[in-house]
Amino acid sequence: MSRPIRALIHADALRHNYGVAKSLAPHSRVFAVVKAQAYGHGLMTAAAAFGAVDGFAILEIEGARSLRAAGYTQPILLLEGAFSLPELRLASELDLWLTVHDEAGLARLEAETLPRPVAVFAKLNSGMNRLGFPAEEVATVVARLRGNANVGEITLMTHFATADEPARGITGQLARFEAAIGSLALPVTVANSAALIAYPEARRDWVRPGIMLYGSSPFAHTPAAELGLQAAMTLQSEIISVQRLQPGDTVGYGASFVAARAMTIGIVACGYADGYPRHAGTGTPVLVDGMRTRLVGRVSMDMLAIELTDVPGVGVGSAVELWGQQLPIDVVAAAAGTIGYELMCAISPRVPVQVV
Ligand SMILES: *Cc1c(COP(=O)(O)O)cnc(C)c1O
Repeated sequence: MSRPIRALIHADALRHNYGVAKSLAPHSRVFAVVKAQAYGHGLMTAAAAFGAVDGFAILEIEGARSLRAAGYTQPILLLEGAFSLPELRLASELDLWLTVHDEAGLARLEAETLPRPVAVFAKLNSGMNRLGFPAEEVATVVARLRGNANVGEITLMTHFATADEPARGITGQLARFEAAIGSLALPVTVANSAALIAYPEARRDWVRPGIMLYGSSPFAHTPAAELGLQAAMTLQSEIISVQRLQPGDTVGYGASFVAARAMTIGIVACGYADGYPRHAGTGTPVLVDGMRTRLVGRVSMDMLAIELTDVPGVGVGSAVELWGQQLPIDVVAAAAGTIGYELMCAISPRVPVQVV
């Protein structure tokens, strides 16, 4: 028998969540953002599960190549563009769309004659200060793109820093972006999941949801279920050992948890080498046979401990859900001081994946 841990990928949830994104923006085209192996769900698994999508947005050109090799003919946008001339040529051969966000990217497009023109998403910095041309330089950038035979359709793009925070929102950045583009009549894309959900004015020609497609909430204070989203990943395992503790006994490395009373704990086959966060502390919720209990002590590489004292009828072999359809990933992430994005992306290659 093999180690009992596995990640279930819920294909119907992926399809449902893409449908939620579509219904929020019925007049936009919707990229399925599938960078980082579809946020840990598996690129090809997710692409197949979504069904008919308007387009894919991805960072890794190898992933884009896999999508083309598998027969996907939709637009595929490279979210950080091509990183080199060979990548630019490959992008053109694969008929990918390119983000261009800086002078080097623009210069590469001018240095080559490509096999065929590429659609370009000119990324403008409206306040995130990560990637993008200063928004005010848009006219110059567009003029250079328009004069370039390698460039097909041009779309203008920006990315928001605080779309997930109701108090700050997108207003300032959107105003700066709009003011800069003025009367340039070009298609536009601005929205990630948070902006798509919270700001109707962000639903433009294209929208770019990622996290919501995987059933995690982009907002700290709104559960995914309230947004109509379904968890697309369940991380589950089993209890592989049971220990009975006396008052004063400790659990795990650092002996950081001390039993205040007689208690029973179960050892679960799941640790940080599987992608469970080591920063999850005593009290982090865990489900055993569908009943809620708590993590105790430090998470180790291959195992963690949960309290079984008042949980009836469980023991070695009982099913444990670390996060998923019954225990939102966002709840576990919050207990570990992080966000659902990080947990799903960190699922380790050693965890067997089962598409259900
Ligand atoms: C990752 C990414 C997205 C998706 O963001 P979510 O918060 O996961 O919806 C959208 N746009 C760009 C440019 C990205 O890099």
